[in-house]
Amino acid sequence: MDDTYQVIVVGGGFAGMTAAKELGRKGVSVLLIDSNSYHQFQPLLYQVATSQIGVSAIARPLRSIFRRLSRVRVLTADVATFDAANHTVTTADGDTFRAEILVLAVGAVPNFFNTAGADEYAFPLYSVTDATRLGSKLTQLLDEADGEPAGTVDVVVVGGGPTGVETAGAMAENVKFVVPKFYSPELAARCHVHLVDMIPTVLNAFSTNLQEYTKKRLNKIGVQLHLGVGVSEVRADGVTLADGTVIPSRAVVWAGGLKAGEIFAGSGLTQGRGGRIDVRPDLTAPDVEGVYVLGDAANMTDSTGTKLPQLGSVAQQAGKWAARNIYADLNGGERRPFEYFDKGYMAMIGRGAAVAEIGRKRIPLQGPFAFVSWLLVHLALLSGFQQKVRALFSWLNGYVTHSPAQVVVGRPE
Ligand SMILES: Cc1cc2nc3c(=O)[nH]c(=O)nc-3n(C[C@H](O)[C@H](O)[C@H](O)COP(=O)(O)OP(=O)(O)OC[C@H]3O[C@@H](n4cnc5c(N)ncnc54)[C@H](O)[C@@H]3O)c2cc1C
Repeated sequence: MDDTYQVIVVGGGFAGMTAAKELGRKGVSVLLIDSNSYHQFQPLLYQVATSQIGVSAIARPLRSIFRRLSRVRVLTADVATFDAANHTVTTADGDTFRAEILVLAVGAVPNFFNTAGADEYAFPLYSVTDATRLGSKLTQLLDEADGEPAGTVDVVVVGGGPTGVETAGAMAENVKFVVPKFYSPELAARCHVHLVDMIPTVLNAFSTNLQEYTKKRLNKIGVQLHLGVGVSEVRADGVTLADGTVIPSRAVVWAGGLKAGEIFAGSGLTQGRGGRIDVRPDLTAPDVEGVYVLGDAANMTDSTGTKLPQLGSVAQQAGKWAARNIYADLNGGERRPFEYFDKGYMAMIGRGAAVAEIGRKRIPLQGPFAFVSWLLVHLALLSGFQQKVRALFSWLNGYVTHSPAQVVVGRPE
């Protein structure tokens, strides 16, 4: 393959991978660049961090995904800068590539909202690296505490959105089922999970009934809720809340929000809410031609002008839609405004307990039905047959035996 491409896609997440696949299938030559050699499935990162599934269930090599699409070249490299006007990208190694159309699907980075110490001490959960780092930290904490005669093992999760709820729920279930079995009931009694959010509830995007159900279930499995008060400082030994309360803890998980990465700063593209690019209804960047911004990196609206959330299904559908518009660009067709098919929201709380609002009408589901729906939807969304089998096996194993499915390899720091 030569070094000129019709399209460069930066980012092999939900948005970029889907766009590259669709374009490759239509015979368009694509260069797909990602910092990692694999596509990562973020919705299950918390399960890797809590030893419920292994990395190989949620990470799939990009070269495997594209092995049958000869028009798509996969390159593992960090894109350091891009030139929106000239459609070029330059990698950290200094290589520059140019194409007729540029697709920026670089996702987001954790937003610490200038909270003192958060950048230094908190554990974010946005990548496989984050998940394994947190997983090894949690294992290390238990191993250390197991050798101590007394002392509590508190972990604070900041952020009561789906990521925070799912992480806190999974950690509390480990305390309830896994720690007594693999360490001791005495150690389990010393472990505490806290969930903090500045708003007075959890799962803000869900209905009040589902929020109340979630709070009750979290309480029931032992999560201590601190709602309506933000975190003002994160330290190595705990957090201080805005009302002065100190929660001593051995680890702090940051699920407090996301913002666009540094790559957009100084790029000339106007940044909107969260530093993201306010794209036009057809998903192109404003003020420049031939540049698309997709997924978590963009503030997108659907064809009715409704703002869309940063979700996997939004990113995936945007990737597919952008591919159609790009194909139209390349072949003299017309771009169309993005029409999003709203499937709703879901969040896992723990064993047999989840919440969901299905479809545009937001039909509420809770309990075992929502739990099974959550498993099926995530199984369907996972990329790759082997990955689906591994996840399914781990879930069954964990459900039946209360055993961790994997060893988290690596050092926490
Ligand atoms: C913990 C967690 C749980 C979630 N749970 C759900 C859920 O249950 N349901 C749901 O619908 N959504 C969920 N989401 C949201 C969903 O995962 C995101 O909305 C979706 O992944 C966004 O897709 P994307 O393609 O825009 O970005 P990403 O999936 O983040 O992909 C971005 C890609 O760009 C690459 N990249 C970034 N910068 C560069 C660079 N400079 N050079 C080269 N490559 C680069 C990254 O390596 C990455 O592969 C969750 C998110 C998180 C973090």
